[in-house]
Amino acid sequence: MYRWIPFSLVDSPNGIAAVAFAKGCYFSCFYCHNPSLKTFEPEEEDLTVDDIVTRIYAINPKNIDWLTVSGGEPLFKDIDELKMIFSTAKSCGLKTTIYTTGCLPNKIEKLLDYVDSFHIDYKLDKVMTDGHTVDNRTLESIGIVPKDRLIVNTVVTELHTPDLLKAMERNLEGVNWKKTPVNLLSSSTGIAAPA
Ligand code: SF4
Repeated sequence: MYRWIPFSLVDSPNGIAAVAFAKGCYFSCFYCHNPSLKTFEPEEEDLTVDDIVTRIYAINPKNIDWLTVSGGEPLFKDIDELKMIFSTAKSCGLKTTIYTTGCLPNKIEKLLDYVDSFHIDYKLDKVMTDGHTVDNRTLESIGIVPKDRLIVNTVVTELHTPDLLKAMERNLEGVNWKKTPVNLLSSSTGIAAPA
């Protein structure tokens, strides 16, 4: 089940996006922006994947740059469903991006031919996810995606101490990550992009 917004300036690497929100997530990030979308239970205002495809076909690509799939955690959706959404968007002339924890690297790999930009939220397990282990799988996903198609979102300043940040940076070096300098302490969320 999905929700939809036709116009967003904040849910893509740049430009304007239409966003399909994939409902359902097992994690418990304390800063979750979309807690109402964590449930897997059907709700009256939910959309099916066919509804999403219909909405994508209705997009005028002169007005919208990206089709974004966010969540919830989109990787908990059936992979063929995700492929259908992204391939429909590409056939309509849109660029595609996914916002994800990267918790299922096998699905990330299957999406490489369908997704132009992967926005992976690298969380430390047991710190941000209530005991679910996601850290190593996220790192594996980061290692799978070509660096020119990858954005890693790492920082919540209320939580990440300098020591934690150093530990995360060491882990990212382990997957051949190169850090782009950012002012990590200037905002509540820092974005690190590939060098
Ligand atoms: S993974 Fe995303 S949707 Fe799930 S709890 Fe964390 S921020 Fe919310």
